[in-house]
Amino acid sequence: MRIDLHCHSTASDGTDTPAELVRNAAAAGLDVVALTDHDTTRGYAEAIAALPDGLTLVTGAELSCRIDGVSMHMLAYLFDPEEPALLAERELVRDDRVPRAQGMIARLNELGVPVTWEQVARIAGDGSVGRPHVASALVELGVVPSVDDAFTGDWLADGGRAHVEKHETDPFEAIRLIKGAGGVAVFAHPGASKRGRTVPESAIAEMAAAGLDGIEVDHMDHDPATRARLRGLAKELGLLTTGSSDYHGSRKTCVLGEYTTDPEVYGEITRRATGAFPVPGTGGNPAR
Ligand code: AMP
Ligand code: ZN
Ligand code: FE
Ligand code: FE
Repeated sequence: MRIDLHCHSTASDGTDTPAELVRNAAAAGLDVVALTDHDTTRGYAEAIAALPDGLTLVTGAELSCRIDGVSMHMLAYLFDPEEPALLAERELVRDDRVPRAQGMIARLNELGVPVTWEQVARIAGDGSVGRPHVASALVELGVVPSVDDAFTGDWLADGGRAHVEKHETDPFEAIRLIKGAGGVAVFAHPGASKRGRTVPESAIAEMAAAGLDGIEVDHMDHDPATRARLRGLAKELGLLTTGSSDYHGSRKTCVLGEYTTDPEVYGEITRRATGAFPVPGTGGNPAR
């Protein structure tokens, strides 16, 4: 069983539509794929309608959080997408992404970069707008050679010249909301130091005590030493460990199934979840 529990579509800042994502996941030989767009469940219906035979979809989202000034991401799996409290929080974060992107564009204009909201809105389409969309605009304008090169102190990295914060949820509140919606909470790429400051282990221990289910260990932004340290921490705290590609289509270099999750851990996630069931693929024919 090959299980990839962290992927983005055009519902946020990936470049595959949800339908393309599930087709590409099947073509990559995956048995299970999770759709975890930033702060939205908008891609679910299209992904389910296109789900190939033999591929199972885990519905989820990646929630933007912040603790003591450090931004972090919380993966939420198999929660009830209609549950009002979590839905309201997702909408709050997602809606604040628009004025925040406009704020970053204003900063870039002050820095002499002629990026416009129209350009960024075109790139984002109907996806929840984020820094990778602004980064793609900077690539189009020839300001930087690649999306990754826009994530520096000169431009969009945390604390960078053109970076503007958005509303982000307290992770303890996120855990409470995810659990309240029947979901499972996994701290995404907790050791991704290239993205900026990381959350201290003491805070991860407090999150574990507050109901955090697991941490993402095998991820492109973790070097081998970081993975070993996180695996030890998870063992100490009784947390599940996952592995995932964090696929963003052509906007990032990672490929589907680059890292995968142990089938036993996946089984445990599905056992703990009460908000939704994994969706088995029917080849786009729901009558079967
Ligand atoms: P946002 O939610 O708008 O703040 O954008 C966060 C997204 O930007 C992340 O999910 C990544 O896809 C991307 N990102 C953040 N930091 C980096 C980085 N250092 N290099 C490349 N992409 C990054
Ligand atoms: Zn992303
Ligand atoms: Fe993330
Ligand atoms: Fe992600």
